[in-house]
Amino acid sequence: AHLDRIAAVDGSVKAFLHVNAEDALAQAREVDRKRAAGEPLGALAGVPVAVKDLFATIGLPTTCGSKILDGWVPPYESTVTRRLRDAGAVLIGKTNMDEFAMGSSTENSGYGPSHNPWNLSKVPGGSSGGSAAAVAAYEAPLALGTDTGGSIRQPAAVCGIVGTKPTYGGNSRYGVVAFASSLDTPGPFGRTVLDAALLHEVMSGHDPMDSTSIDAPVPPVVEAARHGDVAGLRIGIVSEFSGDGYQSGVMTRFTEAVELLESLGAKVTEVSCPHFKYALPAYYLIAPSEASSNLARFDGMRYGLRAGGGSAEEVMAVTRAQGFGAEVKRRIMLGTYALSSGYYDAYYGKAQQVRTLIIRDFQNAFSQVDVLISPPTPTTAFDIGERADDPMAMYLADLCTIPSNLAGNAAISVPIGVAPEDGLPVGLQIMAPPLADDRLYRVAAAVE
Ligand code: GLN
Repeated sequence: AHLDRIAAVDGSVKAFLHVNAEDALAQAREVDRKRAAGEPLGALAGVPVAVKDLFATIGLPTTCGSKILDGWVPPYESTVTRRLRDAGAVLIGKTNMDEFAMGSSTENSGYGPSHNPWNLSKVPGGSSGGSAAAVAAYEAPLALGTDTGGSIRQPAAVCGIVGTKPTYGGNSRYGVVAFASSLDTPGPFGRTVLDAALLHEVMSGHDPMDSTSIDAPVPPVVEAARHGDVAGLRIGIVSEFSGDGYQSGVMTRFTEAVELLESLGAKVTEVSCPHFKYALPAYYLIAPSEASSNLARFDGMRYGLRAGGGSAEEVMAVTRAQGFGAEVKRRIMLGTYALSSGYYDAYYGKAQQVRTLIIRDFQNAFSQVDVLISPPTPTTAFDIGERADDPMAMYLADLCTIPSNLAGNAAISVPIGVAPEDGLPVGLQIMAPPLADDRLYRVAAAVE
């Protein structure tokens, strides 16, 4: 049914870079055989999952949305997709994304943009826009994304679905093409809170193959998603994230969600996080710095594209010039500059200090409340092309999501209706301390 749906709508949504049709059917038949034979079935037996094209998947192309990885088929499997396969999930295809996960609209993909299923002239958000669009368009019930600076929550918000950035380290980064290693967090998309929780639980947990993986039990997210009880819960509204610059319909729905939570017995107060306003500039030093280092491995020798002849240096230069898009080059230059010996203290070092101040803001807030809430993004989905030539306007899409990445916290976006002025989906962001991912699902289930 999902393959038929993909055949019917993906020509216009363009969520997928690769559809794993034959193999997906074979996997589904294998589940049928096991069921008929009475063999044990995994938690996601037979459930199709769309996979952002930066998870290494044996036998399936993995491009990371970049021409530099065109034609690369990984010889190994990411831990997260391995866990899904072990749970019986069917990997139905690889989804479009901003190149190397750099962007908020999928327009930076080397393979053309994806479209928002609610209105095809709008972006589906990004960088995990293909995954969000696939779930919103009923091409898959579940999808995987990664959130380095909002790339699960923002597309979930503008596509009207649920998307979670789990606690950093709660999910293995092994086999996930690296963007900014101290921030990259794999996470789930679903159309309901419980769906997202089921995927969250299956994909998570300690992995000795990732040195930043946390050796702690997976928070009880499924249990929390089933209950959605917020009576007595202390909820803080981040004072800095509302008002000027926020679309009116985004604020209308946000205010209604607050009223709903209060009517369900939550105690809602305002909490100030004064350093959150520096999160965006700090992120745009830290993430490009890490990216400039991580992307050094694409040298025209090891993976995918190789262009130019002559010396190794020439091959490297020509391959990188041809293979990387404009945004990736901008980030590499920005990061290389910020890390250079003369500017390290002024830029990268300062940004890391700001990161500490943001962590302290969260610690202070979570000494007063159990969760924080805000809009996930200041506006609903924008037009394709509208911000393509203006990186600063594009970066603003992640204003509210980035603090949780810098702190390594857990956060979710859950749909709360549409904006009256444009009929496009609006989300609510809920943020929790590290390893308190279950709180996200409790609150999300209450407002769903
Ligand atoms: N939009 C942000 C960026 O371009 C976040 C991307 C992400 O979370 N992968 O860096």
